[in-house]
Amino acid sequence: MVYFQLKVTAKLAGVYNFQSRGGLDDPDHPYFIKLQCENCGEITPSFSCVMLSEEVPLPRVFGRGTANLVQKLCDRVGTVKMIPGFGKPLNHTSGECGWYVRIMVFECHGFAPVEFSFGAVWKAQSRENLWEMDMCKGEFNDFDQRVHVTGLKAKFERMKSFWRYRNSYLYSPSIDGW
Ligand SMILES: [Zn+2]
Repeated sequence: MVYFQLKVTAKLAGVYNFQSRGGLDDPDHPYFIKLQCENCGEITPSFSCVMLSEEVPLPRVFGRGTANLVQKLCDRVGTVKMIPGFGKPLNHTSGECGWYVRIMVFECHGFAPVEFSFGAVWKAQSRENLWEMDMCKGEFNDFDQRVHVTGLKAKFERMKSFWRYRNSYLYSPSIDGW
């Protein structure tokens, strides 16, 4: 099994944090990812949707258990399972500094995640309000209230020996540049 962390950054104005709509580890928050076969390099032509609340049984050859996505690509089948509990909301300072913050961990078999799309509803907080933001257009702007979330970027990174070092992943600030 190989583990990947999804890290994001964005510029936040008028709000102090940014995360999935139901909070971290929201069971119904869709993650849109493109996957690449680690054998032949083929990439899925469109984004696949993965969410914690959608579980499917593993193909029999992989043994027992479930995954959040079982997908066929080229002549192979790969699986993706989400590992909750290791993410943090993106805060204002990290965004200003261009630091990437880990929001989710994915356990992958056969394929590697290579591209992420924010196309869903996210949540941000200001002192007075909770903002729900449709990120299908890649940014959010409310010019009257001076609330902006722009410059959204995401990347996947392979995690070395995730289970052995999970405590350090759990307590680390998970921010580049620290
Ligand atoms: Zn392949």
